[in-house]
Amino acid sequence: MRTVTILGATGSVGTSTLDLIEREPDRFRVTALTAQSDVAGLAAAARRTGAALAVVSDARCLPALREALAGTPTEVAGGPDAVVAAAASGADWTMGAIVGCAGLRPVLAAIAAGGTVVLANKEPLVSAGEIILAAAARSGATLLPADSEHNAIFQCLDRDRPERVRRIVLTGSGGPFRDWSHDAMRAVTPEQAVAHPNWSMGAKISVDSATMFNKGLELIEAARLFPVSHERIEIVIHRQSAIHSLVEYVDGSMLAQIGPSDMRVPIAHTLAWPDRMETPVPPLDLVALGRMDFAAPDLERFPALRLCRQALEAGGARPAILNAANEIAVAAFLERRVGFLQIAAIVEETLQRYHPAGPDTLDAVLAVDAEARAVAGERVKDCVV
Ligand code: NAD
Ligand code: MG
Repeated sequence: MRTVTILGATGSVGTSTLDLIEREPDRFRVTALTAQSDVAGLAAAARRTGAALAVVSDARCLPALREALAGTPTEVAGGPDAVVAAAASGADWTMGAIVGCAGLRPVLAAIAAGGTVVLANKEPLVSAGEIILAAAARSGATLLPADSEHNAIFQCLDRDRPERVRRIVLTGSGGPFRDWSHDAMRAVTPEQAVAHPNWSMGAKISVDSATMFNKGLELIEAARLFPVSHERIEIVIHRQSAIHSLVEYVDGSMLAQIGPSDMRVPIAHTLAWPDRMETPVPPLDLVALGRMDFAAPDLERFPALRLCRQALEAGGARPAILNAANEIAVAAFLERRVGFLQIAAIVEETLQRYHPAGPDTLDAVLAVDAEARAVAGERVKDCVV
């Protein structure tokens, strides 16, 4: 029996994780589930799983959660510190599926408690990669990637002989606008941007896929997670999303992980690792798929790729600033306060306007994150849609 905590249990990755663990109640027991403010979704999941603890990050939702779980054995709590405490409760396996840098403190608390910590939540790795890796080295926690590309690389990589790796190839579908002209992208609406062709995901990562910030953040994520220098990590557009990424070795062999575009596959890999478990996901039908296409990414139409590569190369505070500005710009886009093409412009200008020293503590990262949000927020106010 493994104990499981899910941070961000009501989101896209969170509900996929719940779907898997609920199918095997003899194998997994839920320690804690957390959410931002979706009381109904959180309470329903806590009732189904008999979770020991349910936490809402928005403390104003605590009375409603208490009422929804009255008469059940589940304890309730509210507020960001209660989410961190839930993460620290020492489950054998913790899924980090909060969206954005809001997941940083909870993920670090789970890592400090040891056990296995699964990172779907990529933004903390972008903003505070070194701090997260150092914390894992200190506590002995096992970090496993659930992001489909990174999980694919993890499965293909010979971790004992990284010097034998020539190249990592990160694949990306290219998002819903991969074939659109720059001009056509100007008028993109939030509804169009969140309708991803191959994956069903939360709003923020869907917009990130459309701008290709997601692939750029994943480039930084890969550089943090794997012992391969950043110039040896390439991005290739593969519109069918069948190959989730590849590792090329010095002899010319390329190992790819191929599978359905369903997050339950990589999540199951991390739940059972180093074993395997069954999933309800229909197998990928290669004959029906028929073909796999590959293309170079277009850095002109998708400046996010250039900005992320530059931030990774420059290091220091640049990735944290880029991530924070993107979070602000995406939120403003979803609220129709900025246009689609303005997202990358806001990120670029925030990077130009703000040059702090590289942060080497958690508090310093959080300070850079907060200031970058303020700078980006000022830029949002200047935007006309
Ligand atoms: P989502 O928006 O569907 O869910 C986010 C979850 O986090 C929800 O449970 C929400 O209640 C909670 N949350 C949101 N803001 C919070 C805050 N400030 N404090 C505490 N909790 C908060 O997001 P998602 O699509 O499931 O993505 C989660 C993370 O996983 C993201 O970092 C994303 O990049 C990554 N990821 C997602 C997918 C996918 O298929 N959805 C794939 C790969 C990686
Ligand atoms: Mg991904």
